[in-house]
Amino acid sequence: MFEVVIGLEVHAQLNTKTKIFCSCPTSFGEEPNTNVCPVCLGLPGALPVLNEEAVRKAISFGYAINATVNKKSIFNRKNYFYPDLPKGYQISQFEIPIVENGELFITLKDGKTKRIGITRAHLEEDAGKNIHHGNESYVDLNRAGTPLLEIVSEPDMRSAEEAVEYLKKLHAIVRYLDISDANMQEGSFRCDVNLSIRPKGDDKFYTRVEIKNLNSFRFIQKAIEYEVERQIEAWEDGTYEEEVVQETRLFDTKTFETKSMRGKEDSAEYRYFPEPDLLPVILTEEMLESGKNIPELPDEKKERFVKDYKIKEYDATVITASVEMARFFEEMIDEGASPKLAVNWLTVELVGRLKGEPIEKSPVNAKKLASLVKRIEDSTISGKGAKEVLDHLMENDIEVDEAIEKLGVKQVSDDGAILAMIDEILSKNADKVEEYKAGKEKLFGFFVGQVMKASKGSANPQLVNKLLKERLSS
Ligand code: ADP
Ligand code: MG
Ligand code: ZN
Repeated sequence: MFEVVIGLEVHAQLNTKTKIFCSCPTSFGEEPNTNVCPVCLGLPGALPVLNEEAVRKAISFGYAINATVNKKSIFNRKNYFYPDLPKGYQISQFEIPIVENGELFITLKDGKTKRIGITRAHLEEDAGKNIHHGNESYVDLNRAGTPLLEIVSEPDMRSAEEAVEYLKKLHAIVRYLDISDANMQEGSFRCDVNLSIRPKGDDKFYTRVEIKNLNSFRFIQKAIEYEVERQIEAWEDGTYEEEVVQETRLFDTKTFETKSMRGKEDSAEYRYFPEPDLLPVILTEEMLESGKNIPELPDEKKERFVKDYKIKEYDATVITASVEMARFFEEMIDEGASPKLAVNWLTVELVGRLKGEPIEKSPVNAKKLASLVKRIEDSTISGKGAKEVLDHLMENDIEVDEAIEKLGVKQVSDDGAILAMIDEILSKNADKVEEYKAGKEKLFGFFVGQVMKASKGSANPQLVNKLLKERLSS
């Protein structure tokens, strides 16, 4: 039996307006090579100036993961040659990163909580992009110099599921802190997976490979599954030594296989040395203090939802997994929707109808969904009627009450109208009324059904129940 050992390196692009060492904008999707200047082009003599916003964002991340925020940290040059790196080195942090020794907690399928250590988080600049068209290659340096926070975990994860849960939690944290857009498709939240296997019970670490090119949770899952399989097979075939070597592997998004890309560089090969053009980063008391001022994070929000709104732990986890979803829910509550119904109408009915689109794209906003929920609560419509209304609202930009009128789904909650229907049903079924009164109580359901049918489903069922009981006991 084998155990899987996984450690993750995440590069989160910080959402500052300008780059980390110059004042070029960080906007995405511009004409190639338009957001550039002598600093990010690496022209001789150009000097970097550190962006304070990037530092502030790194500090608040540090506090959010319970880490040590180093009052003094140092930038280093990491030397390597690649066309998208015009200086021939990347400015990064090495011996003394800004953030060290943090942690976050993931919730597993069985409901248990597991701690994942975060070794460090350091600031660095992004490289540009190489673009290949047929036989030609181009370099776009718009991204060069974009601030990154590289977040390195301890090798604490033991399955693809744990790795994905860790990433989702990390993703939620940076989004809650509003320090990164963390858009995986656009590359502002990138993950490398380090993976090895070992016989269960063994506590030493074996050779790891690093897998790159993973831009969705699904690909990460698939890459891990493939790689675990490959390493176990090699072990069992007796070819582990030759086939599992320390290297960088690329995930192929078509075949779902990982393929060897290059041997893994040793850190010595990067010839790290202190960046002579930048002073050490010394954080002021003001920066440290204001960095502690962080918004409510997913775990705290979840606890509060369970405690204050009495919703299920599972539902609270689903809702707080994304900051937009949590905001949507809270707005519904502020609008007066009851928490229980709000959970169901948000996470089941609305999310189901969004078919994978994010909640920000919902044509029905929190206020509208709350009005719909309130119409169920005040018995204007039934749950069934509300589903029809929501279907209609997904396609039409009209108010809830307007849609209720238009679709004619209002429940009859008028005692007189319902009593008239009840009396008619009872007089038509005088024999059954006799039987009921003689003790055949299950006929009650039959009467309810008949009244609902007579009202074509529009009668308020609670009221029908109540009035029928009164009539039959008199
Ligand atoms: P590098 O900077 O060369 O990539 P690090 O020592 O910083 O190397 O480790 C990178 C990542 O690899 C970390 O997330 C760490 O937890 C993980 N890691 C280290 N050893 C192993 C191993 N044997 N199996 C799986 N992951 C590992
Ligand atoms: Mg690495
Ligand atoms: Zn620039």
